[in-house]
Amino acid sequence: MNFEGYSDCGVVLAVDLVNSAGATDTLPDVAALEAFVTERRVSAPGPITRAVLVEVHALRPRLRAIFEAPTAVQAARVVNELLAETGALPQLSDHDGEAWHLHFTPPGAPLATRFAAESAMGLAAVIKAGGFERMSTCADDTCNDVFVDASRNRSRRFCNPDTCGNRSAVAAHRARRRAMVAG
Ligand SMILES: [Zn+2]
Ligand SMILES: [Zn+2]
Repeated sequence: MNFEGYSDCGVVLAVDLVNSAGATDTLPDVAALEAFVTERRVSAPGPITRAVLVEVHALRPRLRAIFEAPTAVQAARVVNELLAETGALPQLSDHDGEAWHLHFTPPGAPLATRFAAESAMGLAAVIKAGGFERMSTCADDTCNDVFVDASRNRSRRFCNPDTCGNRSAVAAHRARRRAMVAG
């Protein structure tokens, strides 16, 4: 697998869901989840209710556990649990003039079930390609967002080099300066 191609929908969805539960919850209410669904052009998502929101919230720590698993074996166990629970059943579809793609749950499956199956399939593909070590959390203490490192030499430490990488560099610089003044 080409690790520069981690644009797979399932992987992006998993990362976005985990990171939505960061320092500030970006999916705090039904309206935010509606926007999330619209942005991703989820087909026929059904009514987004409070109960749906609660189910999606419950999925997020389970997806984070895959990124934070100490070993690939433990990550695979969570992936397999999610796939089993969702009754994932891959089916090709070209609905609404879209390119051929896979759906992993039957039409009408609850939104959280669809999200779980699609995320788990995406992360399964990463692990299958030997990419478990590429599933990381941001090195910035205040961030802790997850990401999949697609760099050739697996050198990425921050979810976003421009924001978290910079903030960390500035903090380290300040700490060094303080140490120099004190010393
Ligand atoms: Zn579709
Ligand atoms: Zn970060």
